[in-house]
Amino acid sequence: MIHLDRLSKPDILEAKQKEWTDKFIASGKSRPDFSKYGHSEISETLRSISFNKCYYCERKLTDIHSEIDHYIEVSDTTGKALAFDWENLFLACQNCNNKFPNSKIPVNQALNPFYDSDYEIESHLTFENEIITAQNNSEIGLRTIQKFKLDSDSLDKIRSKHLLNFKDVLLKIRENQIANQGRPISAEEKQIIQKFAQKDAPFSLMFKLLLKKVKYI
Ligand SMILES: [Zn+2]
Repeated sequence: MIHLDRLSKPDILEAKQKEWTDKFIASGKSRPDFSKYGHSEISETLRSISFNKCYYCERKLTDIHSEIDHYIEVSDTTGKALAFDWENLFLACQNCNNKFPNSKIPVNQALNPFYDSDYEIESHLTFENEIITAQNNSEIGLRTIQKFKLDSDSLDKIRSKHLLNFKDVLLKIRENQIANQGRPISAEEKQIIQKFAQKDAPFSLMFKLLLKKVKYI
C-alpha cells in the first residue's frame, strides 16, 4: 500500500449518484448494481488514481481481473447510502477484494491509502524479502495485512518474482561495474534501480523499503 490522492468525482457520478442511491435503497436489494458503479468513466478514473494498481497490494491490474471495492460495506442498512459515494469506491485485485473471513475487521482499524501518508504507512508495514510484516508488531499494520490478505501465498509468489527480476537487474549492473575496473554506479544505472520504487511501479513500497536499506535512495 502507498498513499494515493483521489481525483475529482467523475461526471457520471456527479450526475447520477443521488438517483442511483435512492433507487438502490428503495429496491431493498443487498448489493448495488455493478453496471452503474462499474461505469467506464468511474473505473478509468479509479485506475488513473493508482497507476492501474490494486489500492491495497500494489499489484498491476493488467495481470489480473480488477474489481471495484466498496471500502465501507454497503450491504447493511447503514452502508447503503455509500453505494455510489465516490470516496467509498476503491480498486482492488481479486485477492484483496475477497475479504472473507476478515471482513469483520473495522476499516478504521486498518490503514487507508487516502487518509494515511506514506510516512504513516511505512511506520506500520514492512517487508522481509517478499514477506510483508507489521512494523514493530504494529496492531494497525497487522490488521491491514489480515483485512486485505496482503500475506496471501499468491501475493508472496508474485512479489518474489518481481524481487528476482530486480536482483537480476542489480547483478547485471554490478557485473558491468566489475568489468569496467570497478567504476562507480552511473546516474543512468541508479535511475534504472530507482524506477522500481516509483509510485507507478508494481509493489513500489516493497522496493522503496529495500532500496532504502541498501542505500540506493
Ligand atoms: Zn490487491
